[in-house]
Amino acid sequence: MRKDTPKHQGLRNQLVSILKEKGIENEAVLEAVGKVPRHLYVDSSFEQFAYKDQAFPIRANQTISQPYTVAFQSDLLGVGEGDKVLEIGTGSGYQAAVLCEMGVKVYSIERQKELFDHTRELLQQLGYRPTLKFGDGYKGMPTYAPFDAIVVTAAAPNVPNALLAQLKVGGRLVIPVGEVGEVQRMYCITRKDEKSFSRAVHGDFRFVPMLSDKE
Ligand code: SAH
Repeated sequence: MRKDTPKHQGLRNQLVSILKEKGIENEAVLEAVGKVPRHLYVDSSFEQFAYKDQAFPIRANQTISQPYTVAFQSDLLGVGEGDKVLEIGTGSGYQAAVLCEMGVKVYSIERQKELFDHTRELLQQLGYRPTLKFGDGYKGMPTYAPFDAIVVTAAAPNVPNALLAQLKVGGRLVIPVGEVGEVQRMYCITRKDEKSFSRAVHGDFRFVPMLSDKE
């Protein structure tokens, strides 16, 4: 296991300052980013860049999201201590760890077996206890529904109905919607009551695609 040192803590504090300058104000989110050792979620060859506000390649041709994107999505969820959040796209586990540090009960789905196995072990070693599932995020996790919020960390061609159905009334779905290879729009969809939803759109982002059944 690689180490977390005072030097890494210093770099994390600088990253938090950068996120503040870019407009992130949510204290719980900033505090969590200040605690999670991002360098342990990337391959050792990328470790020196881990506290730059950038996305990086991880296993299975995927990426670890940019810290700004993680902070932005975490803020939009509108959740805190004890809330239940479902994440689609566990990837490196970094977003899941940030939510765990915020006191959230995290459920997360990943469809790449290699990543799922690696990240499950890593999160356990680092002391996080999210509920992880290997499978297709388009279906959500009906067994544990409803959720206070759902965050999708891959580019979705549309808003999956199964995910809307697993939201509590008042809960939010934060999902980047758009064609693969182009920019996506960050939607924040709130369940107003059993039958109706409202939608806000928040700027452009770039994600790897949300794929359906594994070929
Ligand atoms: N939250 C991650 C971001 C990983 S990138 C992090 O913090 O690092 C997006 C992830 O979504 C990839 O790991 C990809 O394999 C996964 N993914 C894509 N389609 C999926 C689907 N249908 N169900 C579950 N995971 C999916």
